[in-house]
Amino acid sequence: MIKATGSGLEREIEARCGERVRLCFQCGKCSTGCLFTPAMDLLPHQAMKLVQLGQEERLLSSRTIWICASCVTCTARCPNDIDVAGVIDALRQMALEKGVRPAERNVPLFHSCFLGNIRATGRISEPVLMGAYKALSGDLFSDIGLAVEMLRKGKIKLVPSLVRGRREIRRIFSESGGKGAVGKG
Ligand code: SF4
Ligand code: SF4
Repeated sequence: MIKATGSGLEREIEARCGERVRLCFQCGKCSTGCLFTPAMDLLPHQAMKLVQLGQEERLLSSRTIWICASCVTCTARCPNDIDVAGVIDALRQMALEKGVRPAERNVPLFHSCFLGNIRATGRISEPVLMGAYKALSGDLFSDIGLAVEMLRKGKIKLVPSLVRGRREIRRIFSESGGKGAVGKG
């Protein structure tokens, strides 16, 4: 195993997810395969470079860590077997733990609503999830036409269905220390 010698941030990332970002030689294959780069302020390979350089503040305040959809295309394409998606996930966790204001506020909000819905009923109910998300984000009406159309076509049910093992689900949340929040659920 190669001994860790890079930036403090590199070592922290390695401790969190086991990935050795110092192996990145900036070929850019992760970025060229990522479908979400138009919305990112740092391309995945640039994020890896900033990890090598220890630019924690820049990374934790970036839009990229919230825009990343964890699709792992970048991970599959890396010739050095770096789990780029895992590194970005570790950066997201760090941002939450350190109380960095998310550059894309609605992404962690959506995650929290999603996990809160799972915790309460055991499965996703679109009206419950979107109702909570819309109320908390303050964006109440932008998708109302779509919601009406989906209701009309029977694509969403107004009454949420409950799974039988809700107690077990709550126990899983409880044992993982989560309260339905991103990174804690
Ligand atoms: S995991 Fe994130 S960075 Fe990697 S390809 Fe998917 S969206 Fe892009
Ligand atoms: S594909 Fe791997 S080696 Fe190439 S830039 Fe991305 S992380 Fe670095």
